[in-house]
Amino acid sequence: MTDMNAAALNRGKVAVLDATLREGEQAPGVCFAPHVKMAICELLDEIGVDIIEAGHPVVSDEIRRGIGVLARRGFRACIGAHARALRHDVEAGVDSGAGFLGIFLCLSPERLRDRGVTLPAALECAAESIALAKERQPGLIVRFTPEDGVRSPLADVVEAARVAVGAGADIISVADTTGSMVPGGDRSLYDWVSRFRERLAGQGSFPRIAVHCHNDRGLALANALDALRAGASIIDASVLGLGERAGIVDLASLLAVLSQDLPGSGSWRLDKLAELYRLVSHYSGVDVPVHFPVMGRNAFSHCAGVHSQAALRDPRHYQSLDPRPFGLRPELILDHMTGRTALQHALERIGVSGIDGELLSLVLERVKETGQKGRVVTLEELRWIIDYEKRSPPGLPARMTRTA
Ligand SMILES: [Zn+2]
Repeated sequence: MTDMNAAALNRGKVAVLDATLREGEQAPGVCFAPHVKMAICELLDEIGVDIIEAGHPVVSDEIRRGIGVLARRGFRACIGAHARALRHDVEAGVDSGAGFLGIFLCLSPERLRDRGVTLPAALECAAESIALAKERQPGLIVRFTPEDGVRSPLADVVEAARVAVGAGADIISVADTTGSMVPGGDRSLYDWVSRFRERLAGQGSFPRIAVHCHNDRGLALANALDALRAGASIIDASVLGLGERAGIVDLASLLAVLSQDLPGSGSWRLDKLAELYRLVSHYSGVDVPVHFPVMGRNAFSHCAGVHSQAALRDPRHYQSLDPRPFGLRPELILDHMTGRTALQHALERIGVSGIDGELLSLVLERVKETGQKGRVVTLEELRWIIDYEKRSPPGLPARMTRTA
């Protein structure tokens, strides 16, 4: 490991690996142009992720060249490549110029049987690949992933880790490739990682443990935090959780928990996340769901009258996350649930004062009517409503209804 690569990995107590450009491109229809990848990397680097997995070089020349450009760009983050445990994959990874190489191989009995390979032969193949990478580039950070590790026999994964560390691997990744783990149950990742580390420690082996959690059951982040609690110290994530099937851990949600719930785990430029999500959403063609944690449009909005009223007194009454580090603020939504307090607050926000009680009731009525049609009233539209109602003579239906 070079000093620079070691620094990239050891900066925080918890290292974050962003896989948007590798795992994210495995989401259907997602493919980033090389210059877009560069722009995404700029933001990821500013935010402070430790490793940026930038692609699988043997997939195309463009990906291999792109990794080289990013690796030479001089980011603080370490640029990573992905490789199967095959000679030409590893050579392409090393030649790409990446400072980090993730080598993976599935060791589950079913997959080995399908491929007609024995476990010892597979382990030899993994060891040769790792040794080759280290020999070709001694400063390279090498991570070995027994793919689908949590559904493979623990003894086989422990043996694979022992062999991989012996061959020079710096990191062993625990992969919940199919999102099968469930916190608190028989398939707890906390229990799995604890047992794995104990068995390795018993052999005098203490590699750094990474965790790669898929979100098939919506539990990727919960499982990753379970692994962290059991001693893993590198967590894989991607913007919007983009990846195969239901994807992986969402980067913004992960950083929200690390920064607000696990103080001391690291520091990040969270205010850059909104720009990153806009960029990735635009170029991936994947919208940010409105109710998505942290980065969704509704993540810090208050709608129901009782919520709005309490949130106006103190946002913490109905928020457990502080939006300010993300450059965001609580929003009051004007729709069919709006009450007078929220409306008064919105009027203050747009600098409207001195409205009499009758006009206020009319405006509130219009806001509620619009909300009942399934639409939110923006502050801009609120101005138009006030302007219209002010000019609306008493004989027109709205005023007649109100004054009747
Ligand atoms: Zn994956």
